[in-house]
Amino acid sequence: MPVGTQAAVKGVLPRDLMNDLDAKIILGNTYHLFLRPGHETVRQLGGLHGFMAWPRAILTDSGGFQVFSLNSLRKITEEGVLFHSHLNGDPHMFTPESTIDVQLALGSDIMMVLDECIEHPATYDAARHSTQRTVRWAKKGLEHFKRHDDGNRAVFPIVQGSMYGDLRRECAEQLVELDARGYAIGGLSVGEPRPLSLEMTEITTPLLPADRPRYVMGVGMPEELPEYVARGADMMDCVLPSRNARNGCLFTRNGRVLIKQTQYKDDARPVDEGCGCYTCRNFSRAYLRHLFQAKEMTFSTLATLHNLQRYLDIMREIRQAILIGKYPEYLRACR
Ligand SMILES: [Zn+2]
Repeated sequence: MPVGTQAAVKGVLPRDLMNDLDAKIILGNTYHLFLRPGHETVRQLGGLHGFMAWPRAILTDSGGFQVFSLNSLRKITEEGVLFHSHLNGDPHMFTPESTIDVQLALGSDIMMVLDECIEHPATYDAARHSTQRTVRWAKKGLEHFKRHDDGNRAVFPIVQGSMYGDLRRECAEQLVELDARGYAIGGLSVGEPRPLSLEMTEITTPLLPADRPRYVMGVGMPEELPEYVARGADMMDCVLPSRNARNGCLFTRNGRVLIKQTQYKDDARPVDEGCGCYTCRNFSRAYLRHLFQAKEMTFSTLATLHNLQRYLDIMREIRQAILIGKYPEYLRACR
């Protein structure tokens, strides 16, 4: 899922996301949209779909991750989490119920429950305590959602447990009892070694219902996507393709192109000869390097289009390999 934090995938028009890239779903950020422009404003303007002219699916996170990562002054109680706006310092509280209300106002199709994001590394006791709270919050959030459930949206609970396999298992087993329409695995990509993120995913996914989406939050590098899928992930989101694009790092079938390098100064080839995106169909590496050096906005747009296409192409290849029963071969070739 391309990430559209503030109701925009940075540098790319929704029209191009839909017509060129054929993205089926994008991600919005509850914390940021709650603070600005405010969920009631978004509700009045047609929800996120109307507000940003994106008719396809939208997933919103619960805001928990940003509360924990952007706020040094937060205070966690059983009721919820108190925090201060990073924009103007105003105090706010998110509860398991209020984050669902905010996401309902945003009109998202897939909502996430409020979870407690644990710092890495965490002690076993701290992780256990926090994971148990995440389960209690998930129950409250889902119960609240049931009162507003029109059958057209889903709320996903989030498996936490830090880097402790037994806590992950315990958390997953308790969340499965809630019979949600999909499940997420959170608390990864928080600074742990990458093999550990894969290991935690591998421990968790077999415990989640195979007939419902399993969403691994905040991963990963292009070469990791097939690895997560091999471990049972159906959905992923990551800011890497768009953020790296803006910084001049382009992902290709043959590795990374750092566009500012002198070797691309007169390079007439597209970024990736095997790529069918608008950028690769029309522009040379030399042109992109020039735009990057000149700090032209167009660079960000063209680079982001390409990187998102690369990610979506990888997922399309993965789906195709699964459909024809050749996933093990595909995975071996990727490795
Ligand atoms: Zn391309």
